[in-house]
Amino acid sequence: MRLLILGGTGEARELAAQLVDLVEVTSSLAGRVSQPGLPVGKVRIGGFGGIPGLREALQEYDAVVDATHPFARGMSANATTACLLEDVPLLRLERPGWPPHPAWRYVDTPEEAAIAAGQGGTRPFLSVGRQELALFIPALSACDVLARVVDAPADPMPQHWTIIHSRGPYTLDGERALLRRHSIDVLVTKDSGGSYTWPKMEAARELNLSVVVIRRPAHTDDVPVVHTTRAAVNWVISHCPQGQ
Ligand code: NAP
Repeated sequence: MRLLILGGTGEARELAAQLVDLVEVTSSLAGRVSQPGLPVGKVRIGGFGGIPGLREALQEYDAVVDATHPFARGMSANATTACLLEDVPLLRLERPGWPPHPAWRYVDTPEEAAIAAGQGGTRPFLSVGRQELALFIPALSACDVLARVVDAPADPMPQHWTIIHSRGPYTLDGERALLRRHSIDVLVTKDSGGSYTWPKMEAARELNLSVVVIRRPAHTDDVPVVHTTRAAVNWVISHCPQGQ
């Protein structure tokens, strides 16, 4: 059984670790961060070259688990199409979103989040990754923004914005101290779910900050979805040919 895990998340690394002694695991990373946490087993890095490239790559695999980040929708859509066309079984492993809080303001896009943040305060903390950071500039150029990223954003950021570089997981004490140190009054985040980045939500609640949450884009396919690595392991085992 040759399994391809589309990764870039903690869950993808956990899944590789749980399966590496059972099947031939290859994890695929986009290559976005300079020093990625590497999963065990084989690793390939970089895009496949759209649907045609992924279809070609699928000749080497018997099944695929899409364990990319819930906001990595381009990769997920390509996987859906390529696996359908190549008749390769596909499972999506997606951590659930955070349980909604009545005080949080939900929006659908980074642009809407930027406007909502400007309405919610003057010292926003943007915890949204680096790829879409530039979309926040028009609405928040006058604000004292704190943005946290793993690697530097490709686009130039306003001089007076503070960009800090770090990688989770984070602690409640650390997040509380960060929000206090920068006198943050509004937090902007994606609905990433999971525990790695949850402490900032807890700290924001304690400090009574406004919170803006970017909703996950809806999936429009019927790929089976599981929410735990245990369920994904079971799916993989159930797709192994007899005797493996
Ligand atoms: P995306 O918009 O869905 O993907 C854009 C393109 O990047 C894909 O078409 C593919 O290129 C390549 N790609 C993405 N994930 C890949 C993977 N696992 N292996 C090989 N190629 C991949 O994805 P993204 O939002 O840029 O995210 C990139 C990676 O970062 C993902 O692995 C994701 O799990 C991780 N990540 C994303 C976020 C987020 O908020 N988006 C947060 C944390 C981690 P080709 O078309 O050339 O194949």
